[in-house]
Amino acid sequence: MHLSKEDIIWWSTHDSESIQKKYNISKATYGRTKRKYSIANPRKIGSGAPRKYEDKICPECSTPHRNSVYCSRECMNQSEYFKEKLSTIDRSYMQTEEYRKTLMKTVPQPIKSTQEKFIDLLKKYMNNIRM
Ligand SMILES: [Zn+2]
Repeated sequence: MHLSKEDIIWWSTHDSESIQKKYNISKATYGRTKRKYSIANPRKIGSGAPRKYEDKICPECSTPHRNSVYCSRECMNQSEYFKEKLSTIDRSYMQTEEYRKTLMKTVPQPIKSTQEKFIDLLKKYMNNIRM
C-alpha cells in the first residue's frame, strides 16, 4: 500500500479504526503500512494529562523536551554540570594503594600563632603601601 505525504500526516493524526475505515483496509494491512512508513501512534485527543517525560525542561536552554535531562546533545555538552560529572566519573584511582598512601602522608598545616598572623598582616599591609 502506498501513502502520499498527506496520507502519512492523516495517518499519524488518526486512530487505527478511522484509518481502516477510510482506506477500507484490514488490520494487518494497516499495521504493515504503518511500520513501512514508521508512523507513530497518534495521541488520543483529550486523553488526560501529558506523559511525564514531555514536561522536562532543559536546564541549559529551558526548552520542554522528552529526553532524559537535556533537550539535545548540544545542550548536554554545554552544561558545566555535565562536564564536571565527566571529569570526576573515573574514581577507580581512589581504590589503589598509592592513592591511600598519599592520603596518609597529608600533614595538617601548622597552626600559626597570633604573632605570626600579625606579621603576615603587616607584610600584606606593607605590600599594599608599596603599590
Ligand atoms: Zn536545551
